[in-house]
Amino acid sequence: MELLIGSHVSFNKDKQLLGCVKETLEYGGNTFMFYTGAPQNTRRGIIHDELTMEAYQLMKEHYMLLEKVVVHAPYIVNLASNKNFDFAVTFLQQEIERCNQLGIKKIVLHPGSAVDLPRNIAINNIIRGLNLVLDNNYDIMILLETMAGKGTEVGKTIEEIKEIIDGVKFKDKIGVCLDTCHISDAGYDISVFDKILEEFDEIIGLDKLGCVHINDSKNEKGAHKDRHENIGFGTLGFDNLLKIIYHEKLEGIPKILETPYVTKDDNSKERLYPPYKFEIDMIKKKEFNENLVQNIRNYYEKKL
Ligand code: FE
Ligand code: FE
Ligand code: ZN
Repeated sequence: MELLIGSHVSFNKDKQLLGCVKETLEYGGNTFMFYTGAPQNTRRGIIHDELTMEAYQLMKEHYMLLEKVVVHAPYIVNLASNKNFDFAVTFLQQEIERCNQLGIKKIVLHPGSAVDLPRNIAINNIIRGLNLVLDNNYDIMILLETMAGKGTEVGKTIEEIKEIIDGVKFKDKIGVCLDTCHISDAGYDISVFDKILEEFDEIIGLDKLGCVHINDSKNEKGAHKDRHENIGFGTLGFDNLLKIIYHEKLEGIPKILETPYVTKDDNSKERLYPPYKFEIDMIKKKEFNENLVQNIRNYYEKKL
């Protein structure tokens, strides 16, 4: 089976999609995920089609499929709350247009945080928002991400995601992105992943699964903290993650790493070096590298 693996890469205004593809190739990936601007804000620039065309050419040369690439909506977009609801809807409508211009078919979205609203109202808001955003004009699917349950996050159980999906009118435009760190944080036992998949299949249907985020976790199951860890260095462990990555039922679904950047040294707080090249290598070799952090530091110190 051909493994579809990649990571979060950056889409900057000078290189745009071409930069994403180049970064992915550096890491040894064959798919990727990006934010159309900064993850934490909603300022977005103009898309240059020349760069997109160059990116397509490079992707073609490396047998990368555009339909497997995903965009992640900024995490401040919150359809659950009443406060910035109109803004969130407008932003997502524009994000869909941007993705359409880039040829991207999948957008990962955090369902939202209820903040001070009762859960059922929050869920109704999310459904209403999605129905305002999704229509038949664009061939684009929104993938609701399974959440850690930090604070008042909605979507921490398979049932809750299902509730949202049930309210969406255009069913072929809605799907799910499963995040390994988040489901563990939400209380699911990752060591019995087959059971989780069975549950998912029964409640939502595996055909709805459009992306898997592969992250280890700094915290124990059920912690609701949402703190990602490098592959094999957290509570989920290398073997459990490898089983998920190579699971036969997840074939053809992009696996995206969102693990933390590595610091310059043990005393530094600044996260400078991307771990993805080395994590992807470990995954391809199916062999845990306990010297991962040092290898990453050595590599990027020489490079910079
Ligand atoms: Fe996310
Ligand atoms: Fe994620
Ligand atoms: Zn997370």
